[in-house]
Amino acid sequence: MTGSLTRAAWIIGAAVDAEPLVATRGWLVDQEGPRLLAGLAALRTRLGGRAVLAVAGAARAKLLAASAPEGVEVRDVGDGFPLDDPAELAWDVAGVAVRPEQSAADAGVVVVRAAELAAGPGRPLTVTGAVARPYVARVKPDATVEALVDHAGGALGEAWVALAGGPMRGALVDRDLPLPPEAEALIVLPADHEVVRARKLPVGDQVRRALGACEGCGLCTAACPPAQRGWPVSPLAALRALTLPSPSPSPSTGARIDHSGHEARAVESAALCTHCGLCDLVCPAGLSPAGLLDGYRAALAGDAALAARALATPMAAPTEGGSRRLSRGLLTLRLGLSGYASAAALG
Ligand code: SF4
Ligand code: SF4
Repeated sequence: MTGSLTRAAWIIGAAVDAEPLVATRGWLVDQEGPRLLAGLAALRTRLGGRAVLAVAGAARAKLLAASAPEGVEVRDVGDGFPLDDPAELAWDVAGVAVRPEQSAADAGVVVVRAAELAAGPGRPLTVTGAVARPYVARVKPDATVEALVDHAGGALGEAWVALAGGPMRGALVDRDLPLPPEAEALIVLPADHEVVRARKLPVGDQVRRALGACEGCGLCTAACPPAQRGWPVSPLAALRALTLPSPSPSPSTGARIDHSGHEARAVESAALCTHCGLCDLVCPAGLSPAGLLDGYRAALAGDAALAARALATPMAAPTEGGSRRLSRGLLTLRLGLSGYASAAALG
C-alpha cells in the first residue's frame, strides 16, 4: 500500500483492534511485536517522518517501547471504536484532520495495518463467536469459512452464519468460500442473532419503521465519527430527507426526497459515511440510519456529479475535545455478544 509514496510526515502502524470480539492485532503485538517494530522502522527509513506504533493498553505499550528501534514510538491509543479507520488514527495520533476528498496518505499520514508490517506465512485471523474453541492464529490465506470453523471445533448449533470482519461492519460470507483478503476476523453467529437479523432487514422496511419511530433526538449524528471530525455527515438529516413526504421523486436519484435543504445533507452523508454502524447502535428507537444511507448510496451509484458535490462540501469545525470513542466492551454488550469469547480472552 505504500508502493508509490516517497515521503510522509507520519507513519502509523495500526496495531489496535477496534471491532468487538476481534483480537487479531493485539495478538500480533503480543506474538510478533519486534517484527512490527522492525517493519515500521524500515518504512521510516524509506519515507521519513514520525513513526508511531498505535496499540491498545498501557502495559502493552510500555513493554514494547522498551525494545523499540530509535525513532519509533509506541503509543497506547486506548480501546475504542472505530480506531482501525486510517482517518480516525490520523486524527487521534497525529492530530491531522483528513478532508473528505483525501485519503490519510494524501494528508501526509501513512497508516499501515499490523498484518502488513509483519508480513509472513499465513494471514493472522480471529475465529470466534458461536464456535467450540475460539482462536487467533495465522491460517492459510485460501482456507474456506467451513474449514476455519472446523478448526475451531465446529459451530455451536446447526443454523449458523459467518461474518467476515467484525460484528459492526462485517459482511455475511458463504461457507464454501475463502474470506476476503482484508478480513481480520471470522465471527460465527446463530442465524437468528440480532446482528444477523439487522444485516438482512430490507431498506424498504427500515424506511417504514423510521417514518413512524424517529424521535429526532440527534443521537445518531452526535455519535457519528466523521461528523465529529468535521465532515458534512448527518444521519439525522439524511433520515429526514429520505422519510419526509415529497410531492415527487428526486429527478437525480428517483428516491423520495424533500426539497427543504435536507437533500444536500443526505447526498453528502451517503457519499461520506464510513459504514461504521455507530448511529444504528446508539439509536434509542432501534432504527438503522446506516442502513438507510446504504440504500441511498446504492440509488446514487453512478451519479458522479452528486458524489463530486459531496466531496467539495467544506468541512465544519471538529467537535470540541476531539472524537468520543465507545469502548469495545460497551459495543459487545449492546450487540448481544457478551456470551462469546471476548477480545481480551483471546488476545
Ligand atoms: S438516533 Fe434514532 S431516533 Fe434519534 S434522531 Fe437518530 S434515527 Fe431518529
Ligand atoms: S454509519 Fe455512517 S452515518 Fe452512521 S455513524 Fe457511521 S459514519 Fe456516521
